[in-house]
Amino acid sequence: MKKLKLILFGPPGAGKGTFSGQIKKILPDIAHISTGDIFRENLKNETPLGLKAKSYMDKGELVPDDVTIEMVRDRLSREDVEKSGFLLDGFPRNMSQAKALSEMTQVDFLLLLEVSRDIITKRILGRFSCGECNEIYNKYTLPPKEKIEENKWVCDKCGAEIEFKQRSDDTEDTLKNRLDTYEKNAKPVIKYYKKKGKLKKVDATATLKYTEDDIKKIIEF
Ligand code: AMP
Repeated sequence: MKKLKLILFGPPGAGKGTFSGQIKKILPDIAHISTGDIFRENLKNETPLGLKAKSYMDKGELVPDDVTIEMVRDRLSREDVEKSGFLLDGFPRNMSQAKALSEMTQVDFLLLLEVSRDIITKRILGRFSCGECNEIYNKYTLPPKEKIEENKWVCDKCGAEIEFKQRSDDTEDTLKNRLDTYEKNAKPVIKYYKKKGKLKKVDATATLKYTEDDIKKIIEF
């Protein structure tokens, strides 16, 4: 099985989580490393890392680089990464993270998910996930199939009952901050990977419409 090292890059709400799921169907063993998910998991378990990250996440700001970079370095040193490659989702987010990553390893591509600000807003303010299996849904564009009552469904994947509950940082106030932060930091990172010949743009307006063959073409599998 081919081993790929990929970065998924794009604004919050570009569909990085969804796209990761589509790549995982083709490369089931690839290590999906979402820095946002790792921080949220730590926050939930009230670990020292989670407590450090909390105030930044609540405001929609980036967690300091030293904390984030060490967390990724530790995750990339594990055996599954060595064996099956990785899909980095949400890292690097700025130039110092990009440079630190280049010192750790060389990636095959940075996949830039491009989508308009309008679509992002709708996606983010409607998104939620199953508390049991983490399957991602959207109240407006992708609700679970079986509705119980307003804002309550049965999870398509695991059958658990789920209620619409926004992520605590998915509010209009923090969204503006997160999009502004993204726009400020993204440009030099995109340029950096373009110069290395590793930038690949993906139209992420309708990611769910991509077939397995479309995805294979994108990742050159
Ligand atoms: P995400 O799920 O990727 O939108 O991340 C949620 C939050 O986690 C962000 O708003 C940041 O506070 C934090 N975070 C995730 N990835 C990073 C990163 N690479 N650098 C700094 N903070 C991050």
